[in-house]
Amino acid sequence: MPYDGVEPNPSKKGIALRIPEWIEFLRLVEVINNTYPDLATALSCYMELDHASQMSALKCSECYPFVDTDII
Ligand SMILES: [Zn+2]
Repeated sequence: MPYDGVEPNPSKKGIALRIPEWIEFLRLVEVINNTYPDLATALSCYMELDHASQMSALKCSECYPFVDTDII
């Protein structure tokens, strides 16, 4: 939310958190990681070996959801 605004407004700059919001965010991440340990140790798909080459990475539907895999 902009500092002078009253409603959240999307922007091209991403999100900005005030320091108390950042501290709360870090606390919530810890709670989520403790509640769901599988999420805490999960790896992003781009960390897997099948993303080592561009051709195999293009087949990843998470990284490239709009690529037609029939033409690869
Ligand atoms: Zn991927």
